[in-house]
Amino acid sequence: MSRVALVTGGTRGIGAAISIALKDAGYKVAATYAGNDEKAQAFKAANGIGVYKWDVSNYEACGEGIAKIVAELGPIEVLVNNAGITRDSMFHKMTPQQWHEVIDTNLTGLFNMTHQVWSGMRDGNFGRIINISSINGQKGQAGQANYSAAKAGDLGFTKALAQEGASKSITVNAICPGYIGTEMVLAVPEKVLNERIIPQIPVGRLGKPEEIARCVVFLASDDASFITGSTITANGGQFFV
Ligand code: NDP
Repeated sequence: MSRVALVTGGTRGIGAAISIALKDAGYKVAATYAGNDEKAQAFKAANGIGVYKWDVSNYEACGEGIAKIVAELGPIEVLVNNAGITRDSMFHKMTPQQWHEVIDTNLTGLFNMTHQVWSGMRDGNFGRIINISSINGQKGQAGQANYSAAKAGDLGFTKALAQEGASKSITVNAICPGYIGTEMVLAVPEKVLNERIIPQIPVGRLGKPEEIARCVVFLASDDASFITGSTITANGGQFFV
């Protein structure tokens, strides 16, 4: 029987590629999103993957949304915490709102989602949690104190939870993408991309969402059962840990 996979922020960008790759690999996939109904409905129509709207920074909404997916598809065995936002600003100009929005979505969102599938995974003696962190959580990035803090926090969360899940065959891993050609990155002015960002990437190009999706499919698979608490760095050689 095929396993159920939930991908947060699974309707656009990297998340959309992850949802599609998991479906192609035989999973029953549920993709969530925050508010862009148009993109979500177009994604659903094009790919035949169910879409569900809620804000991952809201614990109660996560509980209700997960319960609906479990009722429709069955217990969630693979959770991909991919939803994320940026609210970039140099620190001296950063507002408390910019700080909290990013921490609430990119870090607390992982607690809100994972906490509510954890018991089911423990009961089922199987689980895969895959957290999409970032190169900027590993190396830090000026203008992203909020984002870098949240993404570094995701890595600590991954390592702690891996130790708790191990005896129940629940693996918890993270992926740190470098610069990937999604709307989030293509919103950066072309001049900045071409003159400042791409020259820092030894392979000489942005990554593709599908290149991250294939890492997720591997970590979700039975082949990856001995891998937990680890971080896959997928950044074209830009930064080594
Ligand atoms: P996109 O902006 O293209 O897509 C983000 C997705 O997350 C959308 O589906 C969006 O929903 C959803 N989302 C955002 N906020 C929330 C929320 N509060 N609750 C529920 N869903 C939410 O992002 P990317 O594909 O570029 O990034 C995906 C992940 O990868 C993020 O965690 C990002 O930090 C990380 N990453 C990205 C890199 C890149 O180069 N692109 C590099 C390193 C890491 P909606 O469509 O409704 O807005």
